Amino acid sequence: MALYALDTDSNLVFAADAAPLQTYRCPECRCPVQKRTGLHKRPHFCHLRNAPQCRLHSKSIDHLVFQTRLKEAIPELEMERPFPSILRIADLCWERKKIVFEIQCSLILPPEAEERRRDYAKERYALVWLLDDRLYNKKKLRLSEEILRREAGYFISLQKGLVYDQFDPTRDGARLMKGPPLPVDLSKPLPIPKKPLGLAQLEKRTARFRGDLLDRSLQNSATLQRLLDCEQSLKPKPKPRWHWLKKGVQIGLEYLLRKTAEWDRLNL
Ligand SMILES: [Zn+2]
Repeated sequence: MALYALDTDSNLVFAADAAPLQTYRCPECRCPVQKRTGLHKRPHFCHLRNAPQCRLHSKSIDHLVFQTRLKEAIPELEMERPFPSILRIADLCWERKKIVFEIQCSLILPPEAEERRRDYAKERYALVWLLDDRLYNKKKLRLSEEILRREAGYFISLQKGLVYDQFDPTRDGARLMKGPPLPVDLSKPLPIPKKPLGLAQLEKRTARFRGDLLDRSLQNSATLQRLLDCEQSLKPKPKPRWHWLKKGVQIGLEYLLRKTAEWDRLNL
């Protein structure tokens, strides 16, 4: 599903403005698409034949709903903005702030996630991932979730229309804990501090929006201290020296017992 398509003159046409039975072309894969609409559905374009390789083809209606909501919240955003030089179409682009928002309602392979970030960086745009929390934010991390959250990634609840961040230290592909959802205001991007705050989760952050974990840690030193203490307490403890001594004695005793049993058998 897509919100825009190309007409015969290669102009982008919004689904709501498109003629019902006319055939347009998908801006990503150039396959034929047609307008679809329904009582409870927003107008959108559907591919006339299967196009599994096309990202717009696999977009769900939830994806489109959230995309439209974000556009309504920040009218300056451009939806499905084409970047012909890198052959990509951004879900939402904020030209003045040089930010691209990508809504991720499906799984993505790590190389593709990295490649997308690198492509937008080449164009000097920061990429912010918005991850559907029905798929992401589970106890076990999803494929690529660490990459998607590392620099600039937040969760979205499509039903509640909420964008949120969260304190959630991870280890070996699993969440050790989940803090409460921290509502993020994407209409208010803020500068990144020059000095790192010391919190491992924020070490590689390249984005800051009003209300996110980085913003709250910067605004309130008591909050930051609490998070630092929590992160520290979750670190694996090194085993004390006496643990290895105990282990050595245990192995020695087991050996002796085995030998004694063998001797007993021989005596019989
Ligand atoms: Zn397509």
